[in-house]
Amino acid sequence: MSAPSSLASIPLCVPNIAGNEWEYVKECLDTGWVSTAGPFVEKFEREFAKVLGAKQAASTMNGTAALHIALLVCGVKPGDLVLISTETFIAPVNAISYCFAEPLFVDAEPHTWQMNPAEVVRILTEDCTATERGVIHNPTGKRVGAVMPVHILGHPVDLGPILTLCNELHIPVIEDATESLGGFYKGHACGTIGTVGCFSFNGNKLITTGGGGMLISNNEELVQHARHLSTTAKIEPVEFIHDEVGYNYRMTNLQAALGAAQLELLPQFLKRKREIFDAYNRAFADLPGVEPMPEADYAKSACWLYTARFPAGSRPLLTHLAERKIQTRPLWQPIHISPAYAHLPRQSCPVAEDLNRTCLSLPCSTNLTDEQLDRTISTISEYLRQTSIS
Ligand SMILES: *Cc1c(COP(=O)(O)O)cnc(C)c1O
Repeated sequence: MSAPSSLASIPLCVPNIAGNEWEYVKECLDTGWVSTAGPFVEKFEREFAKVLGAKQAASTMNGTAALHIALLVCGVKPGDLVLISTETFIAPVNAISYCFAEPLFVDAEPHTWQMNPAEVVRILTEDCTATERGVIHNPTGKRVGAVMPVHILGHPVDLGPILTLCNELHIPVIEDATESLGGFYKGHACGTIGTVGCFSFNGNKLITTGGGGMLISNNEELVQHARHLSTTAKIEPVEFIHDEVGYNYRMTNLQAALGAAQLELLPQFLKRKREIFDAYNRAFADLPGVEPMPEADYAKSACWLYTARFPAGSRPLLTHLAERKIQTRPLWQPIHISPAYAHLPRQSCPVAEDLNRTCLSLPCSTNLTDEQLDRTISTISEYLRQTSIS
């Protein structure tokens, strides 16, 4: 049975331009401040830090750049190992590679789908030795340069056990908090808990600047260094003298103008994301064949990308919904089995592989209408009822 061709399509997660974006961008154009400096860059950085309760923020041209710089200012060196969630978008893993360091993948925890903190603790205590040159991973002889928890889909990683041990061992913790902007771990904003927190403002994130990123920390020296590295490490503006190999990673005033306007909308975006999360979870609570998205006791999720588990496998449902013009997406291929990282020793992360097989992200733009939400829910409910009978 094919769907009527008149059905309007429902996208997965698209930008919502609903505030002062036009006005702020026009101001950039009217004043000529369009490039990598200007009042909106400062405003966006200042207000972003304030909203999250961090001391300082440095903006970047995208989230990957923020992650790369974060690793550098935290002292990750060529040849180091960085512990990272395998179930993530690939960007933070690539950032590790840009430092000529190597990822050591950590499987997901089955109840929250996030980086398994017990596994991080096990690796650091059983597989590593604290020495004068740092914490050494015994099987490879490599130094552990950092631990990088990625808070996926809006939900925080259980950071407590990771932080306690890393503080003791002097290992920096770099939070990739991109997907959990506005989420909380035990009352603390995601991104403000580790040594450094990183964010992306790509098109489908909680707020967008078109493309853009941010690095925040309570360690002002680290943020200053990040800003320095991302602006070609220039120490003298007339003679162009640079004291390190730097990068051209800064955000433009145009992007920051969008960001400043979007940030004003964050509370209303989070409210709508929560409504969508609640509506799906209510609808799926008693439905066979689907497990609603989790939210741990320790967490207040930002509810970024609504995702449910379909234990029978998510791909047939994806196809069924696509035929009805409802756009969905499975969870990323775990990076430990990505062809891009086939050169690394093969690791076993069965939980992540199962999540990749069973999870499906559903439409959840902040401008999703109740009608679109109802159509998505009823299409899924009907499908599950039919497939559970047959
Ligand atoms: C989107 C995303 C990024 C990358 O951000 P870009 O701005 O696209 O470079 C990094 N980490 C996570 C978890 C993401 O979802």
